[in-house]
Amino acid sequence: MKAVCWHGAMDMRVETVPDPKILNPQDAIIKITSTAICGSDLHIYNGFIPTMQSGDIIGHEFMGEVVETGSEVKKLRKGDRVVVPFPISCGQCFFCQRDLWSLCDNSNPNPNAGMIEKLYGHSPAALYGYSHLFGGYAGGQAEYARVPFADVGPIKIPEGLRDDQVLFLSDILPTGYMAAENCNIQPGDIVAVWGCGPVGQFAIQSALLLGAERVIAIDRIPERLNLAQQLSDRVQIVNYEEIETGEALKEMTGGRGPDACLDAVGLEAHGMGLEGFYDKVKQTVRLETDRPNVLRQAIVACRKGGTVSLAGVYGGFLDKIPMGAAFNKGLTLKMGQTHVHKYLQPLLNRIQTGEIDPSYIITHRLPLEEAPHGYDIFKHKKDNCVKVVLKPHMS
Ligand code: NAD
Ligand code: ZN
Repeated sequence: MKAVCWHGAMDMRVETVPDPKILNPQDAIIKITSTAICGSDLHIYNGFIPTMQSGDIIGHEFMGEVVETGSEVKKLRKGDRVVVPFPISCGQCFFCQRDLWSLCDNSNPNPNAGMIEKLYGHSPAALYGYSHLFGGYAGGQAEYARVPFADVGPIKIPEGLRDDQVLFLSDILPTGYMAAENCNIQPGDIVAVWGCGPVGQFAIQSALLLGAERVIAIDRIPERLNLAQQLSDRVQIVNYEEIETGEALKEMTGGRGPDACLDAVGLEAHGMGLEGFYDKVKQTVRLETDRPNVLRQAIVACRKGGTVSLAGVYGGFLDKIPMGAAFNKGLTLKMGQTHVHKYLQPLLNRIQTGEIDPSYIITHRLPLEEAPHGYDIFKHKKDNCVKVVLKPHMS
């Protein structure tokens, strides 16, 4: 089959690789009809995720048709149309039983789990196509994928819904939703969202759904800010290249600061001035793993007693985090890889009723062969790119 393989920073190639096989009786094989490039894939593309190996198949946002099932798979049949959540979860362990799906204890096999335990103390769940620290599983930017624990993760899609409407259940829709849920939104609340990429868009939409009185959307890319603005007249926008974000947020909240600050940017935040230069240099010479520019701003901007919610991914050791501000302002910090499984059915219901149509963020639909071009335009925001969907069986 054809798959998108990583060969180093900025080097994605579409190659012919062996078809996936059932390795465990609980596996299924999915023929992929739609698969997307995620902001998280850009961290791999840009070379910030360790333990990638040349030839690794990447991608973790995918859906398709079941073509084969292992002997112990009971809920799925050949021909079923499914969306697959990006964390791989067993459904049985302490964490899965508590709805903490991205923290599954069983999906990351050794020696991979052993490696990440050295870094984090414990191993979180494995993720599709996301390095050997996270399990080394082949990803979904391919014609076919092996799906472990097939009775646990995939959700069947009812007839009448297009791929475009449901594909983002695999990751970014639940991610935006969980990040907004983590903001503990109360009537009258103002939520500030850094980053108007795909995750930011769904975080903004979810914050509105969850009752935020106003959402302040922060970015510098005009078409992404416009997209946010069009969601509702309860959305206000800040272009951080035109106005200083901290000052703007103070002014827009009567000096008090937003009730919740949501970081939908993560470890590759664009920094400005001396601070931006500092992080760039330290990251380049590997003295710092992440550039936590947005996280710092969010902590400082947040009102006393408010919540900072992180959807943006962080990977390692962060420098100059204003912990004193977080502590003395009594902030709550919430974060994590999304517990996608928990949100699949409720969000599918909202899509079915027409309350949410996530397809509006798609700007590019490309055949799988054009994945390298897709990465290039998504990374550099060329051609007004917001979200790329790859179609492995387009031709
Ligand atoms: P993206 O790269 O398309 O969007 C990021 C946006 O942030 C861009 O529009 C960029 O202009 C903006 N930005 C950069 N620096 C900024 C700054 N200093 N202030 C304000 N805005 C800034 O990516 P995406 O697909 O929207 O993903 C966003 C983040 O969410 C990534 O870190 C990704 O890894 C993460 N993510 C997390 C999960 C999870 O489970 N928690 C799941 C999916 C994605
Ligand atoms: Zn993703």
